[in-house]
Amino acid sequence: MIMFNQVNKWYGAYQALTNLSAEINPGEVVVVCGPSGSGKSTLIRTVNRLEPIDDGQIVFDGTDIHGSSTRLNQLRTRIGFVFQSFNLFPHVTVAENIMMSPMKVLGVKRSEARRQAGELLERVGLAHKADAYPAQLSGGQQQRVAIARALAMKPPVMLFDEPTSALDPEMVGEVLSVMRGLAQEGMTMMCVTHEMNFAREVADTIWFMDQGQILEKSQPEQFFTQPQHPRAQRFLSDLR
Ligand code: ATP
Ligand code: MG
Repeated sequence: MIMFNQVNKWYGAYQALTNLSAEINPGEVVVVCGPSGSGKSTLIRTVNRLEPIDDGQIVFDGTDIHGSSTRLNQLRTRIGFVFQSFNLFPHVTVAENIMMSPMKVLGVKRSEARRQAGELLERVGLAHKADAYPAQLSGGQQQRVAIARALAMKPPVMLFDEPTSALDPEMVGEVLSVMRGLAQEGMTMMCVTHEMNFAREVADTIWFMDQGQILEKSQPEQFFTQPQHPRAQRFLSDLR
């Protein structure tokens, strides 16, 4: 579904991704982990072209993401993205935040968009907050709205870059549980996270990155009990 083929990326003279090749299959949940600065955010941001690449290809459902004729807006409607920081629009209600893109981009009627927003809010446990403003919500609630907003475009794939790392600890669980639910429903997901319990329980595949390369791709059980690469062994023992 997503294929990285010999991807190279530089920030000036610094090579952030080096000959990186990997694949995500439909319905697969990939958790990307690795030390700070290893290139996790850079990699995930190349998928919806928040970062350009210098060399190689990233193909999503047959579309060359960085191809010169690929239309960015169209691409981004099909790739849901949730960041570390909550980026809801502050001046409109929770429901309006969710309704905005389907109405504007997909031409969904207001009444239908409202109905869908209600369903999505139900799904993330926030039906009672439809008419609240983002500032009236906790961080965990805002992040769940951000997930609902991304889902409103019915994307076949969702990207998460440390969606819980800006949250107070007591709010991490509620966001992870929404993500876990999505995974169980068969959503294709690429998640950068430091939540190793989540990785262990939910991931189909762990990608361990260091210095712009994926050093190890393993199933969680293998990765957490018998990591193959010495750098991965060190990473895991530092966590303990
Ligand atoms: P973290 O776990 O801290 O979020 P990361 O694995 O997501 O780290 P990246 O943010 O992808 O790492 O950064 C990879 C490398 O590229 C780092 O060395 C970083 O300093 C560098 N880098 C990232 N963004 C830029 C930029 N806009 N300009 C220059 N260098 C950058
Ligand atoms: Mg990062």
